[in-house]
Amino acid sequence: MTPPSRRQVLQWLSGSALSLGASSLAAGTSTRPVPGRLPLPLVQSSSFPTAPIPGATQPLAPGERLAPRLPRLQIPDLPEVHRCEYAVSGVLEAAHVILLVPSAQIRPDHAESLARTAVQKTFAARSSLSEVAVSVYRTEGYMGFGGPAPLLTASVPKTRLSDFLQDFGRAGKVYDRAWINPDAAPSAQRSPSRELERAPVFVGTPAGLTRQRVLQLAAQLSGGVHGGLFFHGNPLRPNAALSFDDAPHPIYAPLLLDTLRRAGVNATFFCIGRNARAYPYYVRDMVGQGHEIGNHTFHHVRLTELPADTVQDELEQCNAVLTGITGRPVKYFRPPGGRYSPETLMIARSLGLTTAFWTDDPADFDNPGQSVLEDRLSRNLRPGGIVLLHDNVLESLRVLPRFVEYASQRRVKLDTVADLAELA
Ligand SMILES: [Zn+2]
Repeated sequence: MTPPSRRQVLQWLSGSALSLGASSLAAGTSTRPVPGRLPLPLVQSSSFPTAPIPGATQPLAPGERLAPRLPRLQIPDLPEVHRCEYAVSGVLEAAHVILLVPSAQIRPDHAESLARTAVQKTFAARSSLSEVAVSVYRTEGYMGFGGPAPLLTASVPKTRLSDFLQDFGRAGKVYDRAWINPDAAPSAQRSPSRELERAPVFVGTPAGLTRQRVLQLAAQLSGGVHGGLFFHGNPLRPNAALSFDDAPHPIYAPLLLDTLRRAGVNATFFCIGRNARAYPYYVRDMVGQGHEIGNHTFHHVRLTELPADTVQDELEQCNAVLTGITGRPVKYFRPPGGRYSPETLMIARSLGLTTAFWTDDPADFDNPGQSVLEDRLSRNLRPGGIVLLHDNVLESLRVLPRFVEYASQRRVKLDTVADLAELA
């Protein structure tokens, strides 16, 4: 395709530079639609206000929200159970049981034994569950999903319950859907970013910001990866990408993977390294089902406030975890909060990563309601578009089948970010 002329780009800058996407509607900012072309979440300056995750009770992006609270199960006669929640996708049900063990009581095989009992009791408490995930944490320092890593985790599909009970933590046996934390002591934490992705935010000079906007708008006209950035796929091809940030999460991963499998579409999961490390079997499931894995940093940090060596460490650690699980190089990276700078771009490129943004953010993290979410997704579907969702939002999961059906009727094929980029 012919690249856009300078005049075209300038027209776009003057006509649509201040237009924002559906996410901005949700955030309460003004939207000025551009005739004939859907607005983009245009790259913003560093003064773009941050928006904390609504109702977040833990510092790591997505994980635990006040609304809607998941239903809980009572697990009898097991005082170590901190909480047991479950969710229903409409087809499957999955639960996550969290146990806390005081350091003084941690001894060989004890956590494994507790996990076996907890999983068995959870299945007994609700016979309709298809999968139970278990995480055992040290009581001291426990801060929920975003705090110090668990001592162990496991995923137990109902069909694998007897394998789990017979093999997990037994001498000479291996249960393949489990992770034992190899660290003797809790590893160092970094302060995670609590802001939502609403628009890409460039931290740099005014001239640098203008260049980013030109690149973004040029990408809207011609698509493709330019200068290590992927803003938009080819608008002349009937393809769009589906992407999920902050993966993986227990409860949601099996439900989402089942939903995507039934819908017959592949997606890109931008994984937080620490989540992937503690729940590697979900990442394996994603790759096994044909999905793509992208880098979303190791601790979900705001990169633009960190020194270069820390940024490099965040991206490298995440790449190492993901490659260690999948055996494949990681090609795409999405910065938490959409915040990036010339330095983060340079470091990402030096690691072979393309920085990928989005065209449509329906703000699923606001839990706007299924009909609103479905409407935002449908209204913004575009050839070459990149849809941003989060992997642990039930509303997203539940509207996905109808959105995929809608895309199919519009003859837009949903696929991974890499597949969309290759078409450009
Ligand atoms: Zn994120």
